[in-house]
Amino acid sequence: MKRFVVVRYHEIGLKGKNAPFFFNQLLANLRKACYGLGVEGVRRGHAMAVLSLSPEAEWEQLKERLGKVFGVARFSLAFHTEATLEALEVAILEELKRLTFSSFRITAKREDKAFLLTSQDINRELGASIQRATGARVDLHHADLDIAVDILPREAYFSFQWAPGPGGLPVGTGGKVICLLSGGIDSPIAALRMMKRGCQVVFVHFHGFPLVEGTSRHKAAELVEILNQYQYSSQLHLIPFGDIQKQIIVATPPPYRVLLYRRMMLRIAGEVARRENAGALVTGDSLGQVASQTLENLAVIDKAASMLVLRPLIGMNKQEIIDQALLAGTYETSIIPDEDCCQLFVPKHPVTRGSLEEVHSLEVNLDIPALVAQGMVGAEVKEFSVPEGLAVGPSPII
Ligand code: ATP
Ligand code: MG
Repeated sequence: MKRFVVVRYHEIGLKGKNAPFFFNQLLANLRKACYGLGVEGVRRGHAMAVLSLSPEAEWEQLKERLGKVFGVARFSLAFHTEATLEALEVAILEELKRLTFSSFRITAKREDKAFLLTSQDINRELGASIQRATGARVDLHHADLDIAVDILPREAYFSFQWAPGPGGLPVGTGGKVICLLSGGIDSPIAALRMMKRGCQVVFVHFHGFPLVEGTSRHKAAELVEILNQYQYSSQLHLIPFGDIQKQIIVATPPPYRVLLYRRMMLRIAGEVARRENAGALVTGDSLGQVASQTLENLAVIDKAASMLVLRPLIGMNKQEIIDQALLAGTYETSIIPDEDCCQLFVPKHPVTRGSLEEVHSLEVNLDIPALVAQGMVGAEVKEFSVPEGLAVGPSPII
């Protein structure tokens, strides 16, 4: 029989009048995510999206891709029939011939309340005929085979396999944000958390060139390549920060340098945001993780930003962030040693409670607008848009 994937969403259903906007974005994202995997069509069903599959389509590959589509709550490999008990019985028995199992369980859901039988009736009737035809027994708790049956208005689906989606909202429904992406473990996960809430993320990375080689550029690009699997097209702005840092170093005693670096980064990223029409900046800060991430220092850093700064990891422990990075597939790249521009000239004893007055008195010695302009002029922009290049890797749930 022809196979389908039935995709269920959760939060989109709660969006009232805006539901079509969220749903259409989900359909568009599903199309991109399944590119090249034998999906013939993506259409709207009753509170679901339905993908129709060519005979070549492979469930395992689809599972990996669909497991990364934000907005998807769960999905199953399904067969389609008329919404009658007889049609279901014939089709299920036909498909069961390909499977071996000694126990089974049926879970029927009747979304068409006009259907004459209750879910319990459907379970009982179908269960009895499957038992008769196969000799397998019913086991409600440890069945070899779970058979899900969905009765919808005018049609029905049944399936033997399902997988969880990552949840959240479809990328593209939450506006655009600019993520400050270091080569570290945290910021890629901060970006992913924003994608999960529907944001399109534009990346900005500051590298130490020409002060050092600036090899962190390659690492940032590799991370964006991985993260692009969740949003299908991405932009990475690579900004040379070495010269800017040099000027900060000259004007600033060691304990205050990191604060001034971070403030400059926010200003330049803010300029990128203005040009890209983005609504917020995003960083991977987690409270207290390093000296620049105390409440006092974060407040001082924030004052340099002209727009909302979001820190989705602020309440997470390092281990929690690492666990997510492992699932997302960014961890291995993040731990490759490199020359992070900010590890250069980092003092042994940075201030933990920076004062804004002190920062202001140091910054008067810098031509801030000129430094921002210098960063923007030197920027190199890399584009990533490769639905067909989506790798088939492990399927993370974040
Ligand atoms: P990460 O693991 O993301 O590097 P971290 O714990 O090492 O974070 P910091 O190095 O203090 O923390 O950086 C805090 C945040 O500042 C980062 O999460 C990132 O958003 C931003 N940031 C730091 N360095 C850079 C950089 N070179 N380019 C872009 N953003 C940066
Ligand atoms: Mg870092």
